Amino acid sequence: MVRPELLPKHDVMGAWTRALEAGSIAAALALVAINAARFAGEPRLLAWWLPLAVVAGVLAADFASGIVHWTADTWGRESLPVLGVRFLRPFRIHHVNPDDLCERDFIDCNGDVALLVCPLLLGSWLVPLESELLGATSVFTAVFGAATLPTNQVHQWAHLPQPPRFVAWLQRRGVLLSTAAHQRHHTAPFTASYCITTGWCNRALDRLGFFRAAERTISRVTGMVPRDDERDYVVRRAR
Ligand SMILES: [Zn+2]
Ligand SMILES: [Zn+2]
Repeated sequence: MVRPELLPKHDVMGAWTRALEAGSIAAALALVAINAARFAGEPRLLAWWLPLAVVAGVLAADFASGIVHWTADTWGRESLPVLGVRFLRPFRIHHVNPDDLCERDFIDCNGDVALLVCPLLLGSWLVPLESELLGATSVFTAVFGAATLPTNQVHQWAHLPQPPRFVAWLQRRGVLLSTAAHQRHHTAPFTASYCITTGWCNRALDRLGFFRAAERTISRVTGMVPRDDERDYVVRRAR
């Protein structure tokens, strides 16, 4: 067991990055509210397909979280410009030192995802609600963005020994990713249950061997080796 003080920790953000992240969270929340108000004022959206569009949006958000997480875990090196530090490093530190995620504050935890979902929520707002197809597209995109927004928060809650009571209640009912479900990702060989928005897709994707099949295909086409830089993280194996 490695002494806690020797484990890598998250990077502390500069003032400008923090301002950008806080602004992104405020903008994303405002866009969620604007989309919700627009949908509430459009009675034509109360159609048979509405629950399907909502569930599909949440499933798509969870699936996308798995794809992003798996990509960050599996390919590339921390030495890559920009992406290495901003995208790969947080995931890899998180494997070596999972408790570090619990120490990231609200803005640090949620800012990056908020920045990414703003274009999605803006796109949903700009889609006119003239036809059923456009309405369903707008609802799907808005739910996709709104469900994606708290992804890292849901992930942090899955690591907290005592999450807020309403969160623990939702975790027990399988609505949100639970600690037990997420532990499958943090158990050797660390290659399962990548989805962290709700965790709804994990069981199906693991049973299908979806990510292993994707790795075999990418390796065959590009020659790249999955988790090629894992030797840099020998400490991960020691835990
Ligand atoms: Zn991971
Ligand atoms: Zn985790």
